[in-house]
Amino acid sequence: MRRREFLTKVGAGSLITGSALSVSRIANAKPQYKWKMVTTWPKNFPGLGTGANTVARLITEMSGGRIQVKVYGAKELVGAFEVFDAVSRGNAEMGHGAAYYWKGKSSAAQFFAAVPFGLNAQEMNGWLYHGGGLQLWKEIYAEFNLVPAAAGNTGVQMGGWFNREIKSINDLKGLKMRIPGLGGEVLKRAGGTPVSLPGGEIQTSLQSGAIDATEWVGPYNDLAFGLYKVAKFYYYPGWHEPGTTLEAMINKKAFDALPKDLQQIVTSACKVANQDMLAEYTARNNAALHTLVNKHKVKLKKFPDDVLHKLRTLSDEVVAEVASNDKNSKKVFESFRKFRDQARAWHDISELAYYNARAK
Ligand code: CA
Repeated sequence: MRRREFLTKVGAGSLITGSALSVSRIANAKPQYKWKMVTTWPKNFPGLGTGANTVARLITEMSGGRIQVKVYGAKELVGAFEVFDAVSRGNAEMGHGAAYYWKGKSSAAQFFAAVPFGLNAQEMNGWLYHGGGLQLWKEIYAEFNLVPAAAGNTGVQMGGWFNREIKSINDLKGLKMRIPGLGGEVLKRAGGTPVSLPGGEIQTSLQSGAIDATEWVGPYNDLAFGLYKVAKFYYYPGWHEPGTTLEAMINKKAFDALPKDLQQIVTSACKVANQDMLAEYTARNNAALHTLVNKHKVKLKKFPDDVLHKLRTLSDEVVAEVASNDKNSKKVFESFRKFRDQARAWHDISELAYYNARAK
């Protein structure tokens, strides 16, 4: 017993010493690069804000403090939707957000965040890392003096919060809903009015009646925002965001000024954070959904099949139109579409067949 206790104490002691050493090494290291990271999320917001923190912490720790990254929540340095410009101009060296917020800068950017009825998380990562997607993303962001990286994924989102039941596609007519990106364009095609709002303003807008409905992310985040207090019906699936990729963007001059090893650290930190966020959502959404349904008595509903079918038809139209907007959108969509068709052929007989088999 004593020997075991002794060993445990020694083990714990050396662990503490090891971690204290590395912390003090980082604290005492003379940073060669002091970076600011601006984000579109409220500071420390579960999943999204903490995902940005993970990127910053990994870069700082992996570089032994040679790069020190400080994270700013939305509105601390710049507003949620000013992140792209701030990093592009070099007012901050890094940003964390989602590419569909920048469709006004480049229509093609939307394909790197989420496409209605498009790729899920697993497929997005396949396309970006091994299917040419990231290379196209880099080419497009280079025009804005930015280097992009996938830095998080939410997995399949929820369809959103509504104050009335959605029984047919006509129930979307006249609906003022907070929904970003291509999904918003699809809602417009269905007769609704898409509204773009940063996360921090959703609850009050829904409460005041400025909007009738909203989507945000999924149970984990929606519970944290308290959206169940202002809307009763919680719809699935998130047809509009089947595996949203969050992004880190780095000012290109700042990135190019780094030695090769630090560039690799920045890139690898984003890749680790990208995987870690999906794992976190997968773990937390289950528990949060249980709380929403059992404690807060949220009415969980599936969109009727004919509504989903109609939305899918409208999505195909919208995506095809966006793809014909400009040269970049056309190029990105071609790559995306080719990958989606292949992924679907494989996933129909792997993931989907397995889910169906497990469900029975
Ligand atoms: Ca969303």
